[in-house]
Amino acid sequence: MANQALDWGKLDFSYHKAEYRYVSNYRNGEWDEGCLTTDDQVVLSECAGVLQYAQTCFEGLKAYRTVDGRIVTFRPDLNAERMVNTAKRLVMPPFPKERFIDAVRQVVKANQDWVPPYGTGATLYLRPYMFGTNPVIGVKPATEYQFRIFVTPVGPYFKGGAKPISLCVSDYDRAAPRGTGHVKAGLNYAMSLYPLEEAHRSGFNENVYLDPATRTKIEETGGANVLFVDRDGNLVVPKSGSILPSVTRRSLTAVAEKFLNRKVIEREVLISEIKDFVECGLCGTAAVISPVGRIVDHDTEILFPSGMEKMGPVTQQLYDTLTGIQMGRLEAPEGWICEIC
Ligand SMILES: *Cc1c(COP(=O)(O)O)cnc(C)c1O
Repeated sequence: MANQALDWGKLDFSYHKAEYRYVSNYRNGEWDEGCLTTDDQVVLSECAGVLQYAQTCFEGLKAYRTVDGRIVTFRPDLNAERMVNTAKRLVMPPFPKERFIDAVRQVVKANQDWVPPYGTGATLYLRPYMFGTNPVIGVKPATEYQFRIFVTPVGPYFKGGAKPISLCVSDYDRAAPRGTGHVKAGLNYAMSLYPLEEAHRSGFNENVYLDPATRTKIEETGGANVLFVDRDGNLVVPKSGSILPSVTRRSLTAVAEKFLNRKVIEREVLISEIKDFVECGLCGTAAVISPVGRIVDHDTEILFPSGMEKMGPVTQQLYDTLTGIQMGRLEAPEGWICEIC
């Protein structure tokens, strides 16, 4: 489909094949120079490491068209660093940080006609990922890998404004205490699908997971970090070694302190105390913040005072400030905006 045929305002969060993707291969102990290609197909050995033992990881970030017509990405250095950490944990060769940022620049620049116009709410989503390609049958790391970045235009996550969602406290666990919860491994998502379907069947939008060791503390949902606002207007974010370090969460906490003069408290959050919070939200690149109106823990229902109709006031303030920075309406802290063209 040609991009001219896309109605930016009607896009949802799904894949649309853009023109170019970036590819680099790792062989004989080194990454090749990498290039852009129009070929969207990946052809693999039937025995490739990714297909047998799920040696794959990914990242997600966006390119935005700013109010003054520039194309920018948001903190790609943090995605690059996180992917290095993920790769190490999965015994994959890290794709060098500077090369990751260069690949982001190349692929966005080549697909600039696919970056939705300012004001449509749509953005260009980038999906960097890496996987083991050579045949692996005994359990061991692959020796050859492919790193790719494709892009796809995505619509505003919430059409017609962000309606608060309902979460269910899951009986399943997301991440073992010393497992892979803190890295962006594909396997974390594969195992979340069954509980997610169950949550959907029960009428919830998402699962919120507890710490598996004690099942008393809030960790995060399948694909987003959780944040709370307390009665004093402070931002409270759960602390745990098995939470994925969200770039959005780290940016929102900085925004709360530097732009909004709010206190940020990162600490363990007990499920028993969430009834005392006044607002709740989920944060990640896709939606920035999804307001949460309700959390159900078996026969206990927590309804946040912000209600089921609209975002709470502090959540809204955080959302407006961060999206203002991303879209170039507000001045960004040093190093947050990476200008492409
Ligand atoms: C990707 C992801 C997030 C969100 O991270 P961002 O960098 O803000 O997009 C949160 N939780 C999990 C489990 C994730 O995989």
